[in-house]
Amino acid sequence: MGILEVKGVNKRFGGLQALGDVNLSVQERSVHAIIGPNGAGKSTLLNCLVGKLIPDTGSVMFDGNSVLGRKPHEINQMGISRVFQTPEIFADLSVMENVLIPCFAKRDGSFRLHAFETVANEGELNDEAEKMLADVSMLEKRHMLASSLSRGDKRRLEMAMCLVQRPKLLLLDEPTAGMARADTNNTIDLLKEINDRRDITMCIIEHDMHVVFSLAQRITVLAQGTPLVEDTPDNIKGHPKVREAYLGE
Ligand code: ADP
Ligand code: MG
Repeated sequence: MGILEVKGVNKRFGGLQALGDVNLSVQERSVHAIIGPNGAGKSTLLNCLVGKLIPDTGSVMFDGNSVLGRKPHEINQMGISRVFQTPEIFADLSVMENVLIPCFAKRDGSFRLHAFETVANEGELNDEAEKMLADVSMLEKRHMLASSLSRGDKRRLEMAMCLVQRPKLLLLDEPTAGMARADTNNTIDLLKEINDRRDITMCIIEHDMHVVFSLAQRITVLAQGTPLVEDTPDNIKGHPKVREAYLGE
């Protein structure tokens, strides 16, 4: 049994079958990549996992509980966090202030802007924020303005903010899209560190095969809404159906 078990999921948009009988099993602590051509249904599948879309049929079980029928914030509280293409950070705040926001929100259930004024008395939250920054090797940059960071470091900051919630499963939709090679490698290292050190399971949608083969232990190839094959990176590389459907050979 995986930490995430998707069974028989179908999703139609009008006449278009975006997902057709999708099965997916993601093992705890693994990095599982989902690849496939544009329009294959990858983002639709992710949206079904976080409650943004509701499958027409099928089941989605996380950690033994069904996510279907739950609201996105409830699914988030179950331990599933999602990371988007562009890091979601507050550009005009410092690195430290960015991480304090989810720390406050977690403690108080909401964030009040005036909270920063009392931050001097909030030793516990400061410690928590600094720990999260240390975990992504960003502690030395805590006084920098978020907007001045490289793309790779913005991703590190976003991950520190995300770690505050103690996620069990991280869903990443093309986390290196549009990045220069140095930032991409920075992000690969970051995700490896988090997967190893924090035991966080990851499900990653990615077009860059260098990223996929650097990180994933299992790869599912989605084509026209249906899993074509699921296997190890080595087997996927040589798979004739994959070369034909995905690599265009
Ligand atoms: P991918 O992420 O693999 O590129 P998507 O999941 O975004 O693919 O899309 C799968 C198919 O579903 C595409 O044909 C897309 O146009 C369609 N689609 C996605 N979202 C919607 C929507 N909200 N309404 C109608 N069609 C959609
Ligand atoms: Mg997509």
